[in-house]
Amino acid sequence: MNTKKPMSLTGRVILGMVAGILTGFVIRTLFADNGFVDNYLVHGLFEVGGKIFIASLKMLVVPLVFVSLVCGTSSLKDLSTLGRMGGKTLGLYVGTTAVAITLALTMGTIFQPGAGADLAAATTFASTEAPSLGQVIVNMFPTNPINAMAQGNTLQIIVFAILFGIAISAAGKPGERIAAVFADLNEVIMKLVALLMHIAPYGVFFLMAKLFTGLGIEAIFNLAAYFAVLAGTLLIHGFVTYGLMLKGFTGLNPFTFFKKMEDAVMFAFSTASSNATIPVTMETAKNRMGVDNKVASFTVPLGATINMDGTAIMQGVATVFIAQAFNVDLSMTDYLTVILTATLASIGTAGVPGVGLIMLAMVLNQVGLPLEGIALIMGVDRLLDMIRTAVNITGDSVVTIIVGKSEGAFDQTRFEDPKAGEKEEKVHLSHAQ
Ligand code: ASP
Repeated sequence: MNTKKPMSLTGRVILGMVAGILTGFVIRTLFADNGFVDNYLVHGLFEVGGKIFIASLKMLVVPLVFVSLVCGTSSLKDLSTLGRMGGKTLGLYVGTTAVAITLALTMGTIFQPGAGADLAAATTFASTEAPSLGQVIVNMFPTNPINAMAQGNTLQIIVFAILFGIAISAAGKPGERIAAVFADLNEVIMKLVALLMHIAPYGVFFLMAKLFTGLGIEAIFNLAAYFAVLAGTLLIHGFVTYGLMLKGFTGLNPFTFFKKMEDAVMFAFSTASSNATIPVTMETAKNRMGVDNKVASFTVPLGATINMDGTAIMQGVATVFIAQAFNVDLSMTDYLTVILTATLASIGTAGVPGVGLIMLAMVLNQVGLPLEGIALIMGVDRLLDMIRTAVNITGDSVVTIIVGKSEGAFDQTRFEDPKAGEKEEKVHLSHAQ
């Protein structure tokens, strides 16, 4: 008889991650030039497995965001609730980002990561044009909702889903019937998420193994000061700012919160994409933390798209670093410009790997710093991208709880129950046979 307790999902994902990182290192050191390992493992099994995992996460995003947000909005009793909730959410998202970037600039100025940096490594960097704020706003409105879904444009999907949900609640009996269908669909999609989480440990293993086989760890030594200041600031913001915010606004225990964030943080870390992590962040917010769907379905996808504190921190530290490395003095006005532009740039940054670095061009342009600076830090960006994505989604979750609690859409007993959400995680496939 097998009396061993099965390992929790978190435990299995951690195992997958650690095994993947170790495998990557072993291959890198022992089988660097081995054609077989390279063709069949690294660019074969690992690459294919990792890509399938990311694809399946992304596959869930559009239906999940649409269905849960329609459910959420159609259950709101009146429009003023939506307006109030939207106002609070946006205010907190922008506010936390401004705090993040100010912290980043302060840390960069104190620790001077770019003083004496070797610029020989700089190569040219081709920047892409950053969209204007007006364009960002116009782009939120879909001309064709099906097209918005086909392209996975989260902001446009959010706008359409909110309008659709409002129409459902205004449509009387027919609206109620449609709302019931969406409620059922929502259950089914959450099961799909749970199903996917079961294969997550393998997906995470493949992603990590492939990444760490090719990751230029040496680059970190050359940019050690930049790496350390940025990673340190990200951690301070992730734990201290969010911990204090949670305690201050809600009185809840930050440790319980961080413990429950484990899965979502690991997904964000291994995928480096807030967007791909939406299904897990949403599951965590609803089932583990106890935030009602009507809040979480709105704040989580919106946050994954516009709230990027980690990215803003990177942009702040990077700007200071590049200015120091190129011996450019930044004035007070420059600092304020950086705060404003980095906040906007992080709003405009899509929640996918690496985009934050491209949006950095917008910030550097504003204060007249050379874009070649981006090439300087590119080598270490992937690892930092993983950390900042984890911070990005932690920020979304804190705001989700604060808004949920203030709207009376929060179940504190569930938040305090360490086992909450485990039931939802289990999937029985007996019907599928
Ligand atoms: N990878 C980040 C995210 O998805 C965005 C970025 O900073 O590049 O949240």
